[in-house]
Amino acid sequence: MNINRRKFLAGSLASISASLIPLKVQSNNPEVVVIGAGAAGLAATDTLLKNGISTMCIEANNRIGGRALTDNSIFGVPYDVGAHWIQNSKDNPFREYGEQVKDEGFEVYKPPTKWGEDRYVVYDGTQNVTGTKSEDDLWKLYEEIENNMYNAALAGKDIPASDVVVRKDSEWFETAHQALGAYEGAKDYKDISCVDWANYPPYSISWYCKQGYGALLSHRWKHLPVQFNTTVESVDWNNKNIKIATSNGDIVVKKCIITVSNGILSSDQINFLPNLPAEKMESIHRISMGVYNHVAMTFHPDFFKEIGIRTIDTYLYYKIKGSNPSPRGMAGLMNISGSNLCYFDTGGDFAIELEKEGSEAQIDFTTSELKSLFGSKIDRYLKKSHATQWGNNKYTLGSYAAAEPGYAHLRETIRVPLNEKLYFAGEATAHEYASVSGAHRSGIRAANEVLQSLI
Ligand SMILES: Cc1cc2nc3c(=O)[nH]c(=O)nc-3n(C[C@H](O)[C@H](O)[C@H](O)COP(=O)(O)OP(=O)(O)OC[C@H]3O[C@@H](n4cnc5c(N)ncnc54)[C@H](O)[C@@H]3O)c2cc1C
Repeated sequence: MNINRRKFLAGSLASISASLIPLKVQSNNPEVVVIGAGAAGLAATDTLLKNGISTMCIEANNRIGGRALTDNSIFGVPYDVGAHWIQNSKDNPFREYGEQVKDEGFEVYKPPTKWGEDRYVVYDGTQNVTGTKSEDDLWKLYEEIENNMYNAALAGKDIPASDVVVRKDSEWFETAHQALGAYEGAKDYKDISCVDWANYPPYSISWYCKQGYGALLSHRWKHLPVQFNTTVESVDWNNKNIKIATSNGDIVVKKCIITVSNGILSSDQINFLPNLPAEKMESIHRISMGVYNHVAMTFHPDFFKEIGIRTIDTYLYYKIKGSNPSPRGMAGLMNISGSNLCYFDTGGDFAIELEKEGSEAQIDFTTSELKSLFGSKIDRYLKKSHATQWGNNKYTLGSYAAAEPGYAHLRETIRVPLNEKLYFAGEATAHEYASVSGAHRSGIRAANEVLQSLI
């Protein structure tokens, strides 16, 4: 999730360098099982272990980190396949951690501009219109729509953002749509709840980690015992103890913290016996997954000079023409940490459609959009490309979750424990939803609920 321009208006609302840890089982008779070793599951496991509770963290994949994953093999430089922005840097524990482990080769840094002055290039066709009235028009439209969304929420109207959009005839309409919807929320206006949007806590500028956010998270939790390649198939919570059937056998425990994505919980991959209550299921289905994908590309360094980009971590926006009803375009972050790597991102229905066509189609689309801005010199400078496919990723089935219009109140339901046995964590249950730091805090919250119940 890239919150790069969103202003702090919500205060008034009160509101793969991942380490491969060898298979280890912390205890054969744990009191608690944590399902999933992403940001939430790892924070929960750490909290419980620190409090002397025997805990087993089980993970279907062969690595920790979940949707926070840095790969170094594809491009030879750190590539955040999932989370990249260290959001809410002021209060983000990973920023602080990054500063602590400076001596171990990590560098966290703030973008080279002040809050609200992130570096942008904005294109209208082949024209760079950055700093002109034309660019102002884009951000004015963006802010007008954003204000309308907050005002709808303040008035208690949990309506879709598409009900409050203005100036649909503006030439920048789809670019603002891309920036506010697909790029930030992984959904289109019609699927964004104004209240859920506005309930996001106040935040500060995002920072970056030169070695990758996923690498930083994996480093933080490298000491934690996790049982890999262990897929949970069913959770029988009918009796005093909970019986968890996994691909590696059964485990019987008193308490279970579930951190898998709403995509996985909605897909029935985990069979709950008895079924989860109807209101819990409704909250899982209505806080549904959006799709947001990167096409990552590396270029020869001369490319950036030639198109007038002289700074690192520069956003790219351009006049998007197509819509159906999702903006048929992308937004970019260029020359990431000075590594010549760029992310060009699609989101919402268009990202779903493009992902279905396959990674070649995702890369072709990106290349063709870049050619329409910068001409055929792209062919000369482009070195390598890779497309993510989070919509179909079997461990997540989507990128991150957001409440559908009319259902923002279900954020309360989704985090409520059941019978002092099942506890729910993960980004969708977090106040600071769709983020690594939110998932992290939700894991600590769920672990504390378990600790309370054990007193
Ligand atoms: C493309 C993309 C860009 C993003 N950008 C940012 C960003 O810039 N900044 C930011 O803060 N956040 C960003 N996010 C969101 C962030 O990555 C997530 O909110 C966060 O990592 C989720 O952590 P989690 O622990 O809730 O879930 P996950 O990371 O999904 O962890 C859940 C774990 O459960 C495992 N699992 C699934 N099913 C089973 C099963 N049956 N049995 C056992 N284990 C199972 C999964 O393998 C996974 O490891 C982005 C996400 C994506 C996809």
